Formats: sequence, structure tokens, C-alpha cells
Amino acid sequence: MKDKRKSKETIDQPVVAFLSFPAFLTIVSSSVEVFRKETIGYLVGVKGENKFMVEYAIPYQTAESGYVHATVDTDRVGRINEILSKVSQGQGLEFVGDFHSHTVFGKSPATVVPSNTDLMSTIPGELNIICAVNMKKRAVRWYESKRGILTGTIGEYRIEIGGYYVEQAGVGRQYERVDIKCPAVTGIVEKKE
Ligand SMILES: [Zn+2]
Repeated sequence: MKDKRKSKETIDQPVVAFLSFPAFLTIVSSSVEVFRKETIGYLVGVKGENKFMVEYAIPYQTAESGYVHATVDTDRVGRINEILSKVSQGQGLEFVGDFHSHTVFGKSPATVVPSNTDLMSTIPGELNIICAVNMKKRAVRWYESKRGILTGTIGEYRIEIGGYYVEQAGVGRQYERVDIKCPAVTGIVEKKE
């Protein structure tokens, strides 16, 4: 079998996103708050090589929240980027992506799998976080699943936070899973690579 020539070193390591405790709290609380509807917001942090550090998650206040999907107009994103570019100088903070929630629809449980609509509106290079909210069956402590999904229960809800990423435009609906980590809630100490 011939090896494909690659100009860059093959990347075996998955893309990882670390959530700060405030970012985690905002994603979970805004998703639970509108449960049975969906929330949408943006992520501010630092983008590194195969790694995102998410410092803040900020819900869009005027997002059209519906049962099927929340949308936001693109002018708003432009305005936010403009503000960020002016105020985050020196802190290295930038707009790194979006988050939205998935909720129960009829008898279908919410999952962290991006929908076709999600993938069509995904901007390559941006981190995308999906927070799936279901009614809990039993309480579990927060842990990171083998698939890189941050999972736990709060109140009556079971929460799963998953991430995905699209490397470049024009690759159809292919996406890569992003491992979501939040040591502040799982207590897991990240191993050095
Ligand atoms: Zn979605």
C-alpha cells in the first residue's frame, strides 16, 4: 500500500477544547434555562495548535429560539467580532466559535451529534460545542466519556457537552470530533503529551 505524501506531519492527536469553569457554567445554565427550546451563543478564548482554551461563553440574547434550531443573524457576529478586536487586545482573547443546545424533540433524545443544518452553517476552523439536555434517569458525577464528551447531571437534567470542528470548506459534511475537557468539574488532571 502506498503512503499518501503529506506536506505536513500527520496529526494523530484529536483537537481538544478546555472549558473554563465560567464557560462551563454559562453553557450548562443557558441550555437548561430554555430547556425544550434551544440556546445559542459564542465562545471567546484562545486558539492554539489543535487546542482551544474557552474562557467565556456568551449567549446571544436575541437569538431566534425554536424547538428545531436556534439561529442568529450574521451582522450580529460581525459586531461582536468588532467589539472583541477592540477590547481583547493584550489578553489574546478572540472569538473562537459557537455553542448551542440540543433538546428533546418528541420522543427523540437530544444528542451532541451535529445536524445537517449545523454542518451547513459551520464555519471551518471554528470550534463548535453542542450541549445536549435530557431528563436524567439517575445522577452521575461529571466525567469525560471515551468519545470525549463531557457528561454529568444537574438537578433533573442529564447534560452532555460535545464538540466538533470542520477543517476546511468544501469537504462536504465531514467533521472531526473535538474532545471537551473541563478539569474544574471533572477533577481530571491533564497529562502532558
Ligand atoms: Zn444543532
